[in-house]
Amino acid sequence: MPFKTLDDVSDLNGKTAVVRVDFNVPVEDGRITDDTRLRVALPTIRKLLEKGATVALLAHFDRPKGKVVPEMSLAFVAPALEALLGQEVAFADTLDARYSGDARVVLYENVRFHPGEETNDAGFAKQLAALGDIYVNDAFSAAHRAHASTEAVARLIPAYAGESMRRELTALDAALGNPQRPTLGIVGGSKVSTKLDLLKNLVGKLDALAIGGGMANTFLYAQGHDVGGSLCEKDLKDTAIEILREADTKGCHIMLPLDVVVAQEFKANAPHRTQPLSAPLSADDKIFDAGPLTVEALTNVMAGSKTLIWNGPLGVFELPPFDAATVAAAKFAAQQTKSGKLVAVAGGGDTVAALNHAGVADDMTFVSTAGGAFLEWMEGKVLPGVAALEQ
Ligand code: ADP
Ligand code: MG
Repeated sequence: MPFKTLDDVSDLNGKTAVVRVDFNVPVEDGRITDDTRLRVALPTIRKLLEKGATVALLAHFDRPKGKVVPEMSLAFVAPALEALLGQEVAFADTLDARYSGDARVVLYENVRFHPGEETNDAGFAKQLAALGDIYVNDAFSAAHRAHASTEAVARLIPAYAGESMRRELTALDAALGNPQRPTLGIVGGSKVSTKLDLLKNLVGKLDALAIGGGMANTFLYAQGHDVGGSLCEKDLKDTAIEILREADTKGCHIMLPLDVVVAQEFKANAPHRTQPLSAPLSADDKIFDAGPLTVEALTNVMAGSKTLIWNGPLGVFELPPFDAATVAAAKFAAQQTKSGKLVAVAGGGDTVAALNHAGVADDMTFVSTAGGAFLEWMEGKVLPGVAALEQ
């Protein structure tokens, strides 16, 4: 890895580590409904404490847009973190001065209360850097933004990747940066338009790419197939053809559905039929899932692949039985991963939900919950927060 990790720091006695974390947790009626993001930060906090450091946590919450919005204070997170860590976590309501109390862990107020955060302001970054002696970024999910607490501050004091950042970058590198070949990608979801950059990047890198979900319809349409009343971006016909041509040039084998599951109503257990692509569709027919022949073709290629990168479900997985292709592919990927034959990395909001639904999220090599940062990384973009660590 081209950046320093916590293994590169030895003694931090008497020093303070400024640590950027992602504590933008979901909250309902003042209660944290999912504390995953707090748990993810624990290894870094513990490791720094073991090395003797005081830990100064920086985070954002919601979108106060550079103003103090009391309802968006991070104060409520301190006791929750304290309970998970089993150690005092103080809260500092100002970023203007170093915390001077006795606690070894302190959480500072929402960095986005300051206008300099989102503008990556040099003066605000200096203020953040003055809160400690070294900087640690453990928030991969915020690394696609060049903000003062993710980018500029990393250039002012010695910067390191935290444990969860390291884990995520290592997994992503194994999936797309430096993967074992053959490599297979699965891209699904609803629309081509939201994943153009991603498709373009992947066809240049992977040995095979399966395209599924609603976006496959646009490709099928571009190839001259009838897609009935399915979700289809007809205006992207030329773009789809371009992507297929690019794949051909780059030697990426594209797999599109061979058979489809068709229904007329968008609801669970709607009357449906499975048919080959060549069979006719009426204007009311909508393709909601890939059929068993498609799944078989996909799992055959997966069986011969060493690496899988997956974003986007193969069908409308929220509505059974249109979850069948997604669940079958997920289970096969899990089995291959468990038997050591496959490195499987997946990410994306609905993809994570689909893998959980299939009951196999824990069996993948790595599942990214980083959302926007994961997608931008799949698009081959430079993430400012990561680049700042690599200097
Ligand atoms: P992610 O959040 O993992 O990046 P997307 O948001 O791109 O994934 O896509 C997920 C959505 O795509 C799901 O809500 C799913 O219902 C929808 N989808 C999948 N296949 C189809 C289809 N054939 N027709 C319409 N929508 C589909
Ligand atoms: Mg989504």
